[in-house]
Amino acid sequence: MKQFVAENAAEMFDDATGGSSGTPMVFKVDRDTQIAREASLMWANSLAGWRPGDRIAMLWGSDRDVSTSLKNLRLTLRWQIENYRWFNAFDMGAEKMARFHDTMRRFRPHLIVAYAGSVFTFARYLRDSGIKPGYPSSAIVSSAEVLAPEMRELVEDVFGIRVFDRYGNREAGAIAAECSTHSGLHVNESDFIVEIDSSDPFRVPGNVLITYLRNFAMPLIRYDTGDSARFGSCEPCSCSRATPRLAPVTGRESDNIRTASGAIIHGEFFTHLLYGTGCVREFQFVQESLMSYRLLLAGSRRMPGEMKEDLRRRILDAVGRDCALAIEMVEKIPALPSGKRKFTLSRLR
Ligand SMILES: [Zn+2]
Repeated sequence: MKQFVAENAAEMFDDATGGSSGTPMVFKVDRDTQIAREASLMWANSLAGWRPGDRIAMLWGSDRDVSTSLKNLRLTLRWQIENYRWFNAFDMGAEKMARFHDTMRRFRPHLIVAYAGSVFTFARYLRDSGIKPGYPSSAIVSSAEVLAPEMRELVEDVFGIRVFDRYGNREAGAIAAECSTHSGLHVNESDFIVEIDSSDPFRVPGNVLITYLRNFAMPLIRYDTGDSARFGSCEPCSCSRATPRLAPVTGRESDNIRTASGAIIHGEFFTHLLYGTGCVREFQFVQESLMSYRLLLAGSRRMPGEMKEDLRRRILDAVGRDCALAIEMVEKIPALPSGKRKFTLSRLR
């Protein structure tokens, strides 16, 4: 029988960025799946030119699950040995980004792996500061969010290196990744069966359904990710990999939150924050102005007072203690005209 990793009973959202509808699902993971997940990420990085031992700068969310000092020590040692350095994508004010640049300059990463929005924000900062970074030396891997063509163009221009798009899922790993021909994302067929719920999956985008049988603790069968995509060309790729390819994933949306102090809070911060509350089914965090915010909770069980106060404290710590924050229970999270729901929404322009 598989050993069960109770502390990894993480919540997976029905959208890889944390849930277009903000609906959490408890996703149990066994140990073998953790290893398979890491292998899938290595596979995706290898398509971008990564080789074992290469230095990787992760511009990513802080790991909320690293809660004990013993775990911290073990992970820190492992990341040192594996040549990883972490840069907190949830805290990207100008001062922090200046420090990121300084550290990366000395670290000389082969690869930067980042949320699409975070590396875009960092690239804009470098451009506006007149900095031409001499890193990374191999590639930038972008994931977790839609990489719009104009974002890709700016990032590639600033760093002078190609961006490789990766489509993943929080717990199961890399589902599809771009190769050096940049003509679609190769499906990770050794882990997933990927289907598009559409009348014409090569022309009309539809929801991405994944079947994932590696995880004996909780197999997923035709699981609807909530993401929207279509298959790209059915011609063999000139890189000689024979897998089907996805056209860029188009249906994941969240806004960054810009605070009065100039900090930029990544949308994923809020999905991490609402993890584990067990009370929230749908949510949306709305920035009305620099000083005024609303957290909408829908279809949720009654939230204990102290949990609500803890949420309030942690959000105000991030956006500024002088800000107004209303926590509202609502019937439904309003949908965009596309039918998708943003889990973070900024009305700042
Ligand atoms: Zn290829």
